[in-house]
Amino acid sequence: MLTRLRVKCWTNWPLNTKMLRLLRYYLPYKRLLTLAITCNILMSLFVVVSIPALLPFLQILFSDPNVGRASSPSNVENDTTGLQHQLDTFFEQLLISHGREGALLIVCGFLVLTFLGKNLFRYLSLYFLAPVRNGVVRDLRQKMLRKMLDLPLSFFSEERKGDLMSRFSADVQEVEWSIMGVMEALVREPIVITGSLAYMLWVSPSLTVFVFGLLLFSGFIIGGIGKSLKKQSGEAQSRLGTVMSLVEETLGGLRILKGFNAEQWQSDRFGKENDGYARAITRLSRRRDLASPLSEFLGIAIASVLLWYGAKQVFAGHITGPIFITFLYAFYSITEPAKAFSAATYSIRKGMGALERVEAVLDAPVAIRDADNALAVHDFKEKIEFKNVSFQYANAERGALENIQLEIQKGKIVALVGASGAGKSTMADLLPRFYDPTAGQILLDGKDLRDLRLHDLRALMGIVSQEAILFNDTVRNNIAFSTINATAQEVESAARAANAHEFIIHLPEGYNTNIGDRGSKLSGGQRQRLTIARALLKNPPILILDEATSALDSESEKLVQAALERLLENRTALVIAHRLSTVQHANEIIVLEGGRIAERGTHESLMRLSGYYRKLVELQAL
Ligand code: ATP
Repeated sequence: MLTRLRVKCWTNWPLNTKMLRLLRYYLPYKRLLTLAITCNILMSLFVVVSIPALLPFLQILFSDPNVGRASSPSNVENDTTGLQHQLDTFFEQLLISHGREGALLIVCGFLVLTFLGKNLFRYLSLYFLAPVRNGVVRDLRQKMLRKMLDLPLSFFSEERKGDLMSRFSADVQEVEWSIMGVMEALVREPIVITGSLAYMLWVSPSLTVFVFGLLLFSGFIIGGIGKSLKKQSGEAQSRLGTVMSLVEETLGGLRILKGFNAEQWQSDRFGKENDGYARAITRLSRRRDLASPLSEFLGIAIASVLLWYGAKQVFAGHITGPIFITFLYAFYSITEPAKAFSAATYSIRKGMGALERVEAVLDAPVAIRDADNALAVHDFKEKIEFKNVSFQYANAERGALENIQLEIQKGKIVALVGASGAGKSTMADLLPRFYDPTAGQILLDGKDLRDLRLHDLRALMGIVSQEAILFNDTVRNNIAFSTINATAQEVESAARAANAHEFIIHLPEGYNTNIGDRGSKLSGGQRQRLTIARALLKNPPILILDEATSALDSESEKLVQAALERLLENRTALVIAHRLSTVQHANEIIVLEGGRIAERGTHESLMRLSGYYRKLVELQAL
């Protein structure tokens, strides 16, 4: 089995490149790792030393009058070595000076010391490894989150949220359990195996060859099971992703699911996926669980054959009883690490599957990022220009925007109107480069957005989205997270301008009140005013505003409207307009239809045109 495992190590295991890539995650922990490896080596040495240490104990225990001259293993099959002779003489002296009981006590004391040493270093190595294991997992999670923040939005429309969550939690954990465990085994076990093997060969080469013949045979049986584990593990994890997605969806859609009496419908959908996951994980665990009983049974079968064969050798006088027992002990010392290796082959497959899923996120290309030599921009001077801009979502059948020509002069407000799906949000998303146009260019003061530093570009813009995006944090942090250095006065005056100060000071802890998940402790209008305060505090020259469509009561509506007007003052804005009042203030109204500009002009001119815009206005007035 050992040979087979070794072969697996260097060939079948995706060790070569993947394990090397895994090593990169360990590099920051070189120092701790060196300490752990040193302790592992020391521990292994104690294990190896404890094997011959057992021999004098047994010899004394089963001693006959000439115990001091007990035949050494090498007397049987090898020439006497100098070391063995010295050992024999040493124990002979020990017996003579301390008597049988005294010598036994000393040998027992020595045994206790070796095991104390072994376990002390075992603990120390785990002690140094703990921060490495957890640190690597922490780094992986941190890298994943950072990567998620860097990835373009297009990545997320392709991926299920729950699937990403499960990569984040279950897969990273799996990497910890399996691969880290294997790393420990890789460092520690080879020394124990080599030491024990050397002892066994020294004691009796023929018995050793016999034992390894048996091990090889059982290795072939066990090895067969491991093959499909990686595939099954991947399937189970991705099913877990779907289950998590459904939980997310259920929590997010509770109001609607209850309102439409659709609890059973959702429960059935969930049940189907949940059953599938349970079946997949059952298949996986059945196969994995087979490893331990099978290896125990094979172990006992091998031990019995070995006992039978070894005892025959003892009866024939080839080796002594005590030496045979130490041989068995050495053999046992090998089977444990060998089992650890065997378990490692199972878990490495599972773990590599998980690591691949984690790395699929880590290595996903970031399509939208700074060009080499990206230009710095610190202010907006003149105009934004859309030049023949077209855009098509990946996997979409037709373009979302076609041939858009538009100029937004500094200080002007341009409103986008149009039916749902006309392309308004898509157009707004192109400005902060959430997506890049598939054809044409967008220029800021004559420079292509793709040539500018992304961070600088976004610093020029404020975004107020249709849905108020808030985080589970205090009011103050929700207003000031992009303007970390803002003083309390600045935050307060932004909140005043957004008509939010009044309600904030009546919250239990004022600006320090936690507003709950996505701001769930606030009303719709209050949430919107907080997002407006956030944009006011950032005070960007360019504003992208997607007006909320959700109806507010007229009092709240008035407060939000006034706050928005204040926000739009002296700014250049691209507004996705749902309210007529905003549209009337706009310097130009762009009417989008099926991704194209159908009409453009001021409110008055478009009304006079009696076209699509007028129809929209009249529909709204109904
Ligand atoms: P609404 O007023 O309903 O928000 P909109 O005018 O903002 O609509 P967009 O969201 O820009 O419309 O969508 C324009 C078109 O692009 C639609 O046909 C829509 O189906 C499609 N679309 C939007 N997002 C994606 C996406 N992530 N992947 C593929 N197609 C998309």
